Amino acid sequence: MIDTPEAQFAIAAVREAATLTRLVQREMVSPALTKGDKSPVTVADFSAQAIVAKRLGEVLPEAKLVGEEDSDDLRATSEGRGTLNQVCQFVGSRVPGASAEEVCEWIDRGNAEASGEFWTLDPVDGTKGFLRGDQYVVAFALIRDGKVELGVLGCPELEDATTPATGGAGSVLVAARGQGTWLAPMAGDGDWRRLQVAQTADIKQARIFRSVESAHTNTGQLGQLAQAMGTEAEPIPMDSQAKYAVLAAGGGEMLVRLLSASRLDYRERIWDQAAGSIVVEEAGGRVTDLDGKPLDFSHGKGLEANRGVLATNGLIHDAALAALREIGA
Ligand code: AMP
Ligand code: MG
Repeated sequence: MIDTPEAQFAIAAVREAATLTRLVQREMVSPALTKGDKSPVTVADFSAQAIVAKRLGEVLPEAKLVGEEDSDDLRATSEGRGTLNQVCQFVGSRVPGASAEEVCEWIDRGNAEASGEFWTLDPVDGTKGFLRGDQYVVAFALIRDGKVELGVLGCPELEDATTPATGGAGSVLVAARGQGTWLAPMAGDGDWRRLQVAQTADIKQARIFRSVESAHTNTGQLGQLAQAMGTEAEPIPMDSQAKYAVLAAGGGEMLVRLLSASRLDYRERIWDQAAGSIVVEEAGGRVTDLDGKPLDFSHGKGLEANRGVLATNGLIHDAALAALREIGA
């Protein structure tokens, strides 16, 4: 198991943030969500970022954080202030008496520059999944000079990561450079188990993961890719970096983020890829972009030097890159 102080801190912070997202889910999503109402995601996002940033400030006061959220919208309008009120109540369940001003301050600790050594956080990755009751994760990673050194995925809807099924007690995964990828129950009441990717070498047998949201990939090209690879099975739709968790645990062989035809200029956000990519690599897999280039985290908040993502068990990676070239992806 990885027992560095940094890893122990990150695991505890992610577990605490996931406690809050679960609470928001139980109190705001499950009872009566009108279609199109995104407010629970907003409340969960801000609450999770606030708690992780607060804990980072306590444990590593000098550390920089690059989070997906900032407090501008919470301060600007009366609707925002209503949301802030709800965020304060959820955060207050962990930090009794937390004031609106303090909560905004904690959230804005996530405004640091993405350079040198910094932490990056996606407080709720897979917001559509969160609303549907499907997969979502809290994703937290430490980046040093353009390389991910440590990643933690809190997966409240993923029981043991060997299958994509939702529900159960949830899990937390941690990976550190050179120290492997490990999984334990979310609640902290079980042992750590080391993960290894599937040993499938035949690309025809590959189980492929794709985003549920068709706007986040290219569904036409996915079909062509499967054909070029000679696979019969339909790609498995899954939200969030939970896909990387299942790949790391051997529940599939390949994950691909193709560029949507309407957003060919889209560049991945660092918080959407940092934790997931090290989780796969340290389980023995390989992660590149669609051109086979390593992911380069040295360009600020976006992976500006990369196009899309290909993550595999390693054994099928070159064949998958050849198939991507064949279809012109
Ligand atoms: P997924 O759960 O695989 O659909 O990925 C969710 C992530 O996709 C979100 O965190 C967004 O940051 C990201 N995203 C948003 N727009 C796009 C896009 N056009 N192409 C790829 N990813 C996107
Ligand atoms: Mg995200």
